[in-house]
Amino acid sequence: MALVASGAAARPPHIDRNAAESPAPPPKDGDLRPGDPDGPKDLAQPKSRRERERFRGQGARDLPTNSRSVGLPFAGRLRRGVQVVPSDFLRYTGEYAAGGNFWGTWELVQLVERAAYRVHQRVPGAKLSIGELSKASGGDIDGHASHEAGRDVDISFYMLDGRGEPVEPWAFANIRDDGTALPPNEGMRFDDRRNYELVQKLLTDGDARVQYIFVGRGIKRRILAEARRQGARATVIDRMEASMVQPAGGHPHRNHFHVRIYCAPADRPSCEDRAPFHAWYPGTPPNERVSLLVNPVSGGRDAHSRRLP
Ligand SMILES: [Zn+2]
Repeated sequence: MALVASGAAARPPHIDRNAAESPAPPPKDGDLRPGDPDGPKDLAQPKSRRERERFRGQGARDLPTNSRSVGLPFAGRLRRGVQVVPSDFLRYTGEYAAGGNFWGTWELVQLVERAAYRVHQRVPGAKLSIGELSKASGGDIDGHASHEAGRDVDISFYMLDGRGEPVEPWAFANIRDDGTALPPNEGMRFDDRRNYELVQKLLTDGDARVQYIFVGRGIKRRILAEARRQGARATVIDRMEASMVQPAGGHPHRNHFHVRIYCAPADRPSCEDRAPFHAWYPGTPPNERVSLLVNPVSGGRDAHSRRLP
């Protein structure tokens, strides 16, 4: 049982309602094909140093690929986890740096490091600020109801200061629907361009397939508006519509993205997914009916109790 602080205890699990609210039918894989600039061209771990640097930036590490996610995001473990490390493109959000909970499956870690590099390539000048993933061996983690199996990561929004320069707040900054930041981050605002680049990279990765990006509705609207301004393809916009969800209870996620990936095919069946199964689910979805009989209410709880506003 994950820790739940006062204020969150009475809140019901929310994910079943999220699933019911998810737009249907899910988009098809469409034109995201190997060879496309944003498509799954990199379906395997790059082997050479040059290849790795192309995907994850200069000095990119050769990640071990034998990690295993076991169980469910909210009742699971992580075996042979990989740690996200700071780089020229990525930093730990100050509030979480000392906790050391930056462990995930290699699919999740490469996703985060590659996305950070991609945003830096397209719009240089800022680092991706991550919050917590999982503990080194997974399991219960303070402040989260999920984050147990190496498949969840919290990511800070890219932020700008009053002059439009990138700025890195010490903690996640709460954002109004108009993009301005709430105290104590007055004067900062949501960086529409970089946050859009981040989301579109997360949703088009070939190795890690994203199930959810939990985020507030106002943020989702901003990302979609920027996607249209930037001429994003319809298939990418469809993925954004389907995967960005504001939890119906618990933390409203107006201060960070919570990204959850599906189990890698190699980790199944000991790694377990719950619905929704989007069109980009890797392989064949498990039998949903059996999963629901086993545990009808815990389809993806995600409380960030210590961060409730
Ligand atoms: Zn989270």
